[in-house]
Amino acid sequence: MAFELPALKWAANSLEPGISAKTLEFHYGKHHQGYINNLNKLILGTAFENATLEEIIMKAEGGIFNNGAQVWNHSFYWDCIKPGGSVLPEGDFSKAINRDFGSFDVFVEKFSAACAGLFGSGWVWLAKNQNGKLEIIQESNAGNPLRQGKTPLLTCDVWEHAYYLDKQNRRPDYVLDFLKIVDWQTVANRY
Ligand code: MN
Repeated sequence: MAFELPALKWAANSLEPGISAKTLEFHYGKHHQGYINNLNKLILGTAFENATLEEIIMKAEGGIFNNGAQVWNHSFYWDCIKPGGSVLPEGDFSKAINRDFGSFDVFVEKFSAACAGLFGSGWVWLAKNQNGKLEIIQESNAGNPLRQGKTPLLTCDVWEHAYYLDKQNRRPDYVLDFLKIVDWQTVANRY
C-alpha cells in the first residue's frame, strides 16, 4: 500500500506572514512529498510493505525509519497549526500545563528554548508520558516520542528547511511565529 501526501486543511498562503506560501511550496510540496516517495520505494519487498506508519516508527531502523517517521512527523506538524491559531481551551490539558510547568507562559518559554537549543536538525515535542505527565522532548533528525511509548501532543519542526526561506538563520523568530499559529484546541484534544 503506497503512502500518499495528505491534503492540507488550509490554503498554502494562509499562514503568512509567519510561514510563507513559498516555504509551504518546498516544505510540504517537496520535502514532505520526498519522504513519502522515498518511503514507498524503500518498503517494497520488505516486512514493512503493508505496515502502518506507526508500526514503521516503532520497529524500523535506518532509511525506512527515517523516511517513515518524517512522513508521520510532517503530517502531525501540519495538523498542529492553522491560520491565526486558536486559544488554549480551559480544561484538563490547561490544568496539566499549569501542574507540570507552573504556567502556560513558563511552558512557552521552555518550549521556545528547547527549539532554539536543539543542535542541528530535528523536532521539539510536547508529549504525555506513561504517567500522564507532560514533557518537552528534543529529538534529532526524524525522532518521535512514540518510540519511547509517549503520546505526542505538539511538535515544532526545527529543520532549516522549515524556516530558512523566510527567516534564514533566525530560528527563534520562526519559533515565535510558529507559536502564534498553534491550534491549541487540537493539541488539547490529543491529551
Ligand atoms: Mn520538515
